[in-house]
Amino acid sequence: MNSEIKAYSSNQVHDQWDREHLWHPYTSTIDPLPTYKVDSAEGVNIILSDGTRLIDGMSSWWAVIHGYNHPVINQAVEKQLHKMSHVMFGGLTHDPAIELGKRLLAMAPPSMNNIFYADSGSVAVEVAMKMAVQAAISRSGSHQKTNFVTIRSGYHGDTWNAMSVCDPVTGMHGAFGPALPVRFFVPQPRSRFDGEWNPEDIKPLEDCLEKNHDEIAALILEPIVQGAGGMWFYHPEYLRQARRLCDKYGIYLIFDEIATGFWRTGRPFAWEHAGVEPDIMCIGKGLTAGYLTSSAVLTTRDVADTISKGEAGVMMHGPTFMGNPLACAIGIASIDLLASQDMEKVIGHLGDIMKKELAPAGSFSNVADVRVLGAIGVVEMKDPVNVGEFQKECVARGIWVRPFGKNVYIMPPYIMSDDELTYLCRQMLKIIEPVNKNED
Ligand code: PMP
Repeated sequence: MNSEIKAYSSNQVHDQWDREHLWHPYTSTIDPLPTYKVDSAEGVNIILSDGTRLIDGMSSWWAVIHGYNHPVINQAVEKQLHKMSHVMFGGLTHDPAIELGKRLLAMAPPSMNNIFYADSGSVAVEVAMKMAVQAAISRSGSHQKTNFVTIRSGYHGDTWNAMSVCDPVTGMHGAFGPALPVRFFVPQPRSRFDGEWNPEDIKPLEDCLEKNHDEIAALILEPIVQGAGGMWFYHPEYLRQARRLCDKYGIYLIFDEIATGFWRTGRPFAWEHAGVEPDIMCIGKGLTAGYLTSSAVLTTRDVADTISKGEAGVMMHGPTFMGNPLACAIGIASIDLLASQDMEKVIGHLGDIMKKELAPAGSFSNVADVRVLGAIGVVEMKDPVNVGEFQKECVARGIWVRPFGKNVYIMPPYIMSDDELTYLCRQMLKIIEPVNKNED
C-alpha cells in the first residue's frame, strides 16, 4: 500500500473497499484516483459522508440541469413508480413515451418526425450511425456508402462505433488501435463561435467529401460545442457549410446534441445557433435531468421511411429498456419545468456571471483561453491539469469541478444562485491562479 492510499483510507470520505473492488470511469486498479463518498445531494449541493457540502459545477457530467432531489421531478417519479417502472416497448406503448415524444418533437428541428428511444448517449450515437448506414444502403442500393466522416477533437461516447468517431489522438483509438473501424477525420474548425468566420475552415471537409463521398454515409458532429474532446465553441457558419456539402454529396448529417441539448448553450438545442437542421439527431444527458439513463434519436420522415423501404424493412435496434416509462415520466417533468421558465433569461444570466467571474483568468500566465457560451464556462490551461490534486483543492474549498486534459470547466445546474455561482467561479480561479495560490 503506498502512502497516498493510507492517507485516503483513514478519511471517511474515501472508501477502501470501493478502492479495491469498484471500477470508476477511466481509472486504473493499481493507482486509482481518489473517489469521494457521497451521502446525498440536493439543489446544487453534493453532500459527502462527513457532511462536507460541495457546490456542484459539473451537473454530474452535465445531466442534472434542475439540480438534485427536485421536488417536481421526485413527484413525477413517485407517481409513475406506482403505475409501472418498466414495461417492454416491443408491441406495447404507454402515455409517458407518447407525451415525452410530443414534447420532444415540439422542441426539435421542425423536420424531425420519428423518435427512437435508447439507453444512454453512447447507444444513441450507435443507433444514429446504424440509422445512417441502413438509410444509405437503402437509398443507394449498394453497401459501398457506409463509412463516416467527422472533425477532430470530437467526443461521441464510449461504445464501439461511438469511439470510432471520437478524436483519434485524444480519444480511445490509442487503446483499441486496429480493432476500431477506420473513419475519415478532418481538422476541427478554428473560427471561434463569437469571432470572424474563416472560409478556409470548411476546405478540409470539402476536399474530403469531394474525394470520398462514395464511401460516406454520414457526417457526425457535435453542433457548436465540442464537449469532452476539448470544450471548443466553433462558428455557426461551419454547420451551414457542412449542411450544403452533405446535400451536394448525398451524405446524411448527424448532430450529436447529447451535451448541448436542453438549453445548455442558451438555445433549446445548439442547431438553432446556425439555423441548420440535421437528418438525424441524438439527445441524452439533460433529457432525464440526471435522474436515470435514457436517450433518444430523432430523425426525419424521409430517413425513417428510407430505412423501412430497405432490405431489412425495419430499424435494426431494440434495447430491453427502450422507452422506459420512469425515464419518460422524468423527461416530461423536466421539459415542463424548462417550459415554465424564461430559459433564455436564466441561461443568459448564468453566462453573464461566468463571463464576469472567469474573465480574470485570462491574464493568468498559465491560462491559454477563457470562453463562455450559454451555461458553459471554460478555462483552458496551457498544460494538462492534475485531476487528483485539483479535486482535493476543490473539496477543501467546498466546490466540485472535474477538469480533463487542459480544460477546467463548469456546467452548473440551471438553478444555481448568483452567490453560489460567484463562489464556485472564484474558488476555481483561486485553485488555478499561479501566484498567491494559498491566499484566500
Ligand atoms: N456524445 C456526447 C457529445 C457526449 O458529451 C457524451 C457524454 N459525455 C456522449 C455522447 C455519451 O453519452 P453517455 O455517457 O450517456 O453514453
